[in-house]
Amino acid sequence: MTQTDALLGLETPSETVTFAPTRAAGLARLDQFISRAGKHYTSQRNYDFGPERRSNVSALSPWIRHRLITEEEVLKETLARHAPSTAEKFIQEVFWRTYFKGWLEQRPSVWTGYLEGLDKALMSLQKDRAMAVDYEDAIEGRSGIDGFDQWARELVETGYMHNHARMWFASIWVFTLKLPWELGADFFLRHLLDGDPASNTLGWRWIAGLHTKGKAYQARVSNISKYTEGRFRPEYQLANSVIPLSETGEHARRPIPAADAEPDQDYLLLITEEDCRPETLFKSKPASVMGLIATQERSPLDVSPLVETFAQSAVQDAVKRMSATEDTSITSDNWAQKIIGKAEGENLKNVVTAYAPVGPVATQVAAVKPALEDAGITLHEVRRDYDDLAWPHATKGFFALKQKIPNVLEQLGLR
Ligand SMILES: Cc1cc2nc3c(=O)[nH]c(=O)nc-3n(C[C@H](O)[C@H](O)[C@H](O)COP(=O)(O)OP(=O)(O)OC[C@H]3O[C@@H](n4cnc5c(N)ncnc54)[C@H](O)[C@@H]3O)c2cc1C
Repeated sequence: MTQTDALLGLETPSETVTFAPTRAAGLARLDQFISRAGKHYTSQRNYDFGPERRSNVSALSPWIRHRLITEEEVLKETLARHAPSTAEKFIQEVFWRTYFKGWLEQRPSVWTGYLEGLDKALMSLQKDRAMAVDYEDAIEGRSGIDGFDQWARELVETGYMHNHARMWFASIWVFTLKLPWELGADFFLRHLLDGDPASNTLGWRWIAGLHTKGKAYQARVSNISKYTEGRFRPEYQLANSVIPLSETGEHARRPIPAADAEPDQDYLLLITEEDCRPETLFKSKPASVMGLIATQERSPLDVSPLVETFAQSAVQDAVKRMSATEDTSITSDNWAQKIIGKAEGENLKNVVTAYAPVGPVATQVAAVKPALEDAGITLHEVRRDYDDLAWPHATKGFFALKQKIPNVLEQLGLR
């Protein structure tokens, strides 16, 4: 922190974020942070001051990922407080999430390819003892690399890691420890409260040089030392150069699948961890409400209880908001049986849910559809205008979407 920063009021005071899985808690954090989404965020966001000093970033990702608060709400609050030019950087970061979601939706083979690669890497661990030891040391914070070990422990204990630390961590994982990137992505997905198939898979691929082909991210001692204010300095511990990973085959682009309209008959609303803000998605009130999660399907290994509890409670919070009388026990098993049982019990022929983007929930939704059809029940997947407007621009690099941000904001009535 320079003297000028202090004079400009850009200090970063102590601030620990508690990730309570409710919309109210997300809104409280938004309210606490939003005045800093302009100059302060722009100049300070790259610093990882540690878990006790999180005032320079929003730490909103767990709530946004489950749409306990939506991207649109965050953008609206931002623009109510700041000129678009002052908050440009923060607005762009929110759109990075949108970019990754839209990009993966059009290239779902990247997700299935990741799952296959992960299976192979897990099998290699069974055979390669040295690799298994390095892997265990890495995820338990015993690699001996300054910073890396502390970030691994912070992730497991809190469910959060700063963006810059994620970049350094992933780069060290791939290029210094030379572990398969899929194992690192899985470690993140099992422990991040914001663990997301698109942002996580594509974040790791970007670091490794697979997203922007031939361009990898190198973690450097000077950069880590500067942006952690000297907390960490892994001198002589990091790879001196990086050779981007490569893969055979292309991931063909498909059109974004069509979504459904909301039916005009009575319906059962199914809330999942992909969208816990149904109030702003559906026009009519549902006849009945239920919630289901697919959190354990994020990995073949055990997903952290912190992560599962967050998703479960987020869905519970949404179910409660939609209906004070509903049973709010949220489970992850027997989706088809549970949905059919509930719909038949309430004599409803239509089930409505928020469109689930590529990932475990979408896989569950696709798997239950035929059973529902056999039972004479139609499942309608309704997508947000926000996604419909932004996703089509996520075809290549971020730049194309970035250029369209003013248009998208305009069409949403936010400018
Ligand atoms: C290897 C790797 C893995 C990642 N895995 C995930 C993940 O599983 N889930 C996830 O939500 N983000 C992921 N990110 C992106 C980013 O690190 C987090 O979104 C961000 O650190 C969340 O902290 P914040 O809310 O304080 O972000 P802020 O800096 O305050 O940004 C505000 C919001 O913008 C979005 N955002 C910011 N940066 C990014 C980015 N680079 N990519 C996508 N969205 C962004 C998030 O929704 C975030 O809450 C990953 C990044 C890397 C490098």
